[in-house]
Amino acid sequence: MKRILIATSNPGKLRDFSGAALAYGIEVASLPNFSSLPVVIEDGLTFEDNARKKAEQYSRYAPGEIVLADDSGLEVDGLGGAPGVHSARYAADAPHLVENNTDDHANNARLIREIRNVPPEKRTGRFVCVIAAARDGQTLAVFRGAAEGVILDAPRGSNGFGYDPIFYFPPIQKAFAELKAEEKAQYSHRGAAFREFLRWRQP
Ligand code: IMP
Repeated sequence: MKRILIATSNPGKLRDFSGAALAYGIEVASLPNFSSLPVVIEDGLTFEDNARKKAEQYSRYAPGEIVLADDSGLEVDGLGGAPGVHSARYAADAPHLVENNTDDHANNARLIREIRNVPPEKRTGRFVCVIAAARDGQTLAVFRGAAEGVILDAPRGSNGFGYDPIFYFPPIQKAFAELKAEEKAQYSHRGAAFREFLRWRQP
């Protein structure tokens, strides 16, 4: 399989995809000139809505190519599934409004604050990733992955991005931020969704 194009400006996501692809000898790359393309407004109500919207719109800039876009986030059980689709702007005054994302540090700080009022047994949650594969403005298929974990009340590790430092993954007794990209991809929502894509691409 040739190089796979990903529509993202998030270096953390790109690193995750590269980590997942390495085991298969596949190269992933950001869509050319991604930063100069018009920004897609992520106003969907679900991860799938947003993933489709991004993949469809961005695939128009790479005619004939399959372009992947992921929409992802963290659902915490004791917080009614928050931050969910608002994960990238959880620290904002109004996270449901589509505006500038807030930074990872601020988002983690807010989640740590919120989780203090949640009993330990309800601090469970999951990362969810939905990948849409589109070509010439049309979604061809959608893939999902999830990773079940527990939210920590203090950060651990310095790898990864987003909520990785406070997402503890019980099967290996580590936070995602304690893992290198290739290792994270074995367990992560993004790695799982990407492997689904590969199965679809190479039946
Ligand atoms: P999106 O660009 O709307 O998909 O934003 C996803 C947001 O969810 C990111 O900004 C992170 O805050 C969070 N997120 C998604 N995947 C991960 C992950 O693998 N690790 C940590 N945080 C993640």
